Amino acid sequence: MYTYEDLAKYDYFKGVDIEHALDSLTGVLARGYILGFAQKLIEDKVPFAMCIMDIDNFKLINDNYGHMAGDICLKILGDGFIKQVGNDGLVGRFGGDEFVILYLKATDYDSVHSFLASLYGNDKVVRRTHLLDNVITFVTGTCGCASYPQDANNYDDLFTKVDKALYRGKTKGRNCFIVYVDSKHRDIDVHRRDFTSLPILFDSIASQFSKNRTVDEIVKNVVDYITESLQLGMTFVVTVKDNKVISSQKRVPYYYDKEYVDVLKDVVKDQNIYASSDLKQLKDDSKRAMEYLTTNHIQSIIVAKIKVEDYFYGYLALYENKIIRIWQENDIALVMYVEKLLAMLFLLRMKK
Ligand code: GH3
Ligand code: MG
Repeated sequence: MYTYEDLAKYDYFKGVDIEHALDSLTGVLARGYILGFAQKLIEDKVPFAMCIMDIDNFKLINDNYGHMAGDICLKILGDGFIKQVGNDGLVGRFGGDEFVILYLKATDYDSVHSFLASLYGNDKVVRRTHLLDNVITFVTGTCGCASYPQDANNYDDLFTKVDKALYRGKTKGRNCFIVYVDSKHRDIDVHRRDFTSLPILFDSIASQFSKNRTVDEIVKNVVDYITESLQLGMTFVVTVKDNKVISSQKRVPYYYDKEYVDVLKDVVKDQNIYASSDLKQLKDDSKRAMEYLTTNHIQSIIVAKIKVEDYFYGYLALYENKIIRIWQENDIALVMYVEKLLAMLFLLRMKK
């Protein structure tokens, strides 16, 4: 919880009524004050990095342990951020489970990156367990960050860029921080937040069918949709037919490589779908798969068998390279749906 002395280091807060300035639950700055301070910094042309940290799946903490535990969690996180940021900036509550951190010490990419890294880890604030009342739970958060003036020279633009970075982090699978880089992130359309909602995505996929496309075109579009909406590093459709396989490059959309097919076989085994955020689980079961994936820097993987009843057509495989992506229930539901859809499409093609 901030004290008056903590805040009065900044002229903007001299003489402020501390009761009003703080968020009553967490003791970090209330929304109006932290955002007002950001606007003042821009007015005074003081460089700073603006970060928004949104706690991952926070609803589950409330649902599983109750609203009280959720409140305790927010309080612990608020204190954690205050401590970690120290004299280098200020922390506020943006609303709900979102915190704003203004970092004033430096705005170059490397400094901001290492500052954000300092919030993550065992003895830090997120990506660690916290004791909430009488339960222990693992808490992660996703953070987006952009800097004034190099990324934006006014408040609205700065905010948009922070939002793009945060959006990128959430769609990448959460539990990560993203520092805005114009060449990488400028085209992110934050409104696509809605696009990942399943009904809208299903509707876009279904609309493919009314456009008189060939099966191959539809498969390609469907695979493009899933790759884009989940913002995946890579998506493969691997078809296997009488041990002969139609091959093509990734996303275009069939692919074959004998070794690779064996690897996928090992990964899914007797299940229909396999999702893993880190491949340690595979270690004991399948050396070959583990070696292949490690060599290719594949960290998080979902593999689904494309099949209708007894007809087996191959695999749908999605990965992230070098990223621990925590697959969400929605991601898995989407993969299952797309797998069924692909199976029906292959069946259709066979019958032609
Ligand atoms: P995501 O990973 O996408 O951020 O998922 P999420 O579950 O965290 O979803 P979101 O950020 O949209 O929802 C935040 C939830 O936080 C919604 C609300 O139930 C809860 N929440 C908001 N304010 C408070 C609060 O003051 N106390 C508690 N206990 N819960 C809150
Ligand atoms: Mg959240």
